[in-house]
Amino acid sequence: MTGKLSPYSADTMNTSADPINGVLFQDHGWKKLQQLLADPATGRCFILTDNNTRNHCLNPFYEHLEVSRQRFEVLEIPAGEAHKNLHSCLGLWESMSKLGADRSSVLINLGGGVVTDMGGFVASTYQRGIRFVNIPTTLLAMVDASIGGKNGVDLGTLKNQIGIIREPDFVILDPIFLNTLGKEQLLSGQAEMYKHGLISNQNYWEAVKGFDPSNKTESIQLIRDSVVIKAGIVEQDPREKGLRKSLNFGHTLGHAIESFCLEPDSKLLPLLHGEAIAIGMILEVFISMRKHGFPEIEGHQVIDHLVNTYPQRRFDRDDQLVITGLMKHDKKNKNGQVNFVLLSDFGQIEFDQQVEQELLDSAFEFYNNLISV
Ligand code: NAD
Repeated sequence: MTGKLSPYSADTMNTSADPINGVLFQDHGWKKLQQLLADPATGRCFILTDNNTRNHCLNPFYEHLEVSRQRFEVLEIPAGEAHKNLHSCLGLWESMSKLGADRSSVLINLGGGVVTDMGGFVASTYQRGIRFVNIPTTLLAMVDASIGGKNGVDLGTLKNQIGIIREPDFVILDPIFLNTLGKEQLLSGQAEMYKHGLISNQNYWEAVKGFDPSNKTESIQLIRDSVVIKAGIVEQDPREKGLRKSLNFGHTLGHAIESFCLEPDSKLLPLLHGEAIAIGMILEVFISMRKHGFPEIEGHQVIDHLVNTYPQRRFDRDDQLVITGLMKHDKKNKNGQVNFVLLSDFGQIEFDQQVEQELLDSAFEFYNNLISV
């Protein structure tokens, strides 16, 4: 199965105040939240944070609203992927129950992808589903995790094995939260923007290279463009029957590598989500060149850029075997067969592709020969 995404062109992007599939930018979003809070039908409001977003994001959140802080109950989880699990959910369900959450309650997820993924799941299952609002505070959550309604948690180190698809009421996207985000986290988010370029259009791939949060006007435009690309795909295929699979480019290997490095006894240092996806994209661009004729010159330029931008890990033969085993848990698989999303060019998607072991071995060998660690 093959698909082509409509080409990116900055001047066709949505720059109006209208929501893009429920994503409202800056003041438009805060106004909508203000209205929700003022609605007599809205009951108790809970804010889910992690310890970092409680420190860095809660005050800016309050400052945007003309509402007493007493209106909110703040819930907190420890930061990090290791806490994106059912144990944390249990704690949250219990706290909400003790604090009197009912079906009129709203959960506001103020954080990165861990908070929005888990908060969406907790809200969607509490009393069979209460409303929730996402306020992404990392670049990754702004351009990807908070949009599209995929909510869930990990099972051990296996990524996102338990979850539900359910859209938030709306998403407030305000780059003000990026002011306190470190460089590594920014780069991790940029990886998903690169993916949006690879699966849609080379112009956007090139534009993302210049992403610089200190340039407010351009960075918000690039974030908005990523939202348009992701939200447009989700709108056409919300249940991931076809086109939405394109968003998994780089993730078949990337998720397995992320899980492998997250294992408590792993000899390799953990990777941030976007860092693991960057390695997944390098391997999958190589495979795409070999299997589907992705243009060689551009393919090597993409690979060189990602190799030089993101942390590197060397995978020996044993590591590769474990990573290959972990791919058997990928949610795109059917009948035990590992399905990749590959590319024959920028924006030209090859869905449900199987990759022979020999080609996988070559991809790892190619990557190991490129890196300097
Ligand atoms: P994260 O939520 O762990 O946030 C990264 C770190 O930044 C954390 O330590 C957090 O406390 C801190 N932080 C967040 N906002 C901050 C701010 N404004 N200032 C300072 N520190 C801040 O990770 P992430 O990269 O945002 O998201 C990764 C998660 O998203 C993964 O679990 C991944 O599986 C998931 N994801 C989901 C989807 C989806 O469609 N649902 C898509 C992509 C990724």
